[in-house]
Amino acid sequence: MPIIRFREPRMKKEVKMGFAQRLRCGTKAMMTNLHVRMTKKTPAIKFYTSKNLPRNTRVCVFGPHPDDAAISLGGTLHMLTRPHEKNNVFSFALTSGHRGVGNHHDPKINRRLTPKIRAYIRKRETRAADKIIGIKTNFLDMDFYEKGKITALDMKKAEEALQAVKPKIIFMPAHGDIKQETHQFSHELLKRAINNYVRKTGEPLEIWFYETPYYSLSPRMLNVEVELAEKSNSAKIASLGKLKSQTARTNLEAEERLGDARKGIVEQELKHNGNRKILTKISPVANFSRCAVRRRLFGVSWKLL
Ligand SMILES: [Zn+2]
Repeated sequence: MPIIRFREPRMKKEVKMGFAQRLRCGTKAMMTNLHVRMTKKTPAIKFYTSKNLPRNTRVCVFGPHPDDAAISLGGTLHMLTRPHEKNNVFSFALTSGHRGVGNHHDPKINRRLTPKIRAYIRKRETRAADKIIGIKTNFLDMDFYEKGKITALDMKKAEEALQAVKPKIIFMPAHGDIKQETHQFSHELLKRAINNYVRKTGEPLEIWFYETPYYSLSPRMLNVEVELAEKSNSAKIASLGKLKSQTARTNLEAEERLGDARKGIVEQELKHNGNRKILTKISPVANFSRCAVRRRLFGVSWKLL
């Protein structure tokens, strides 16, 4: 039987660095840090739970269609509107979304469904969904939905809404949310209106871009995750049930499950941070991309946080 000898690991000699060597190492470390900072691809994710959500804040939600607030951030809004948070949440739907009311199988009924009636159906559904989430949506009926271009009246309506609310946080569609033309128009219009508002008032604010069933944030954009309380997630799902005209068109069931699917991201993030305590209690989440908007000497800056 061969004898296995264990060798003592050789101790490394302590090396004393001379001035030149220290300078070289220091410069190398500095350059590496700088390189990491410059090529940083994914931002750090700020994690919100029901315990550290924004409080005493004026919040403005802009949805291109009447159902976007419920679908994209219904759970988050349910948490923000709880009385003890003392937030003032104002919701605006930029269009009536009448084109989104599905065609009835009976052509006779279909003919009778004028744009006005379709708009009424969507508004009524939105009110029912709002009641569950705890918001009250105002309808702005923007021109671009009919005319295909942003008009001066659209800009006026958006700016007036901002001036009336004086928000500190704005929820709005992201610039990559281009799958639907209405979302694209809405982003463009809101960006211009917010720039004008910040330029005039000098009030800094935060933008939280949200995800939709057709748009997910890229890792370079995603920097906020809100862990939905069980009650709030159930409220969101219940509110989606009220959007009956949309159930055939939008995959609301998928949206229900997306919260669950997004759990994985949180789990990874928490693992990365070594936070094992929260890891044992993972809930569905809502993802956002947060950026700060400030007035600068020349214009207005939008900076990812
Ligand atoms: Zn929409």
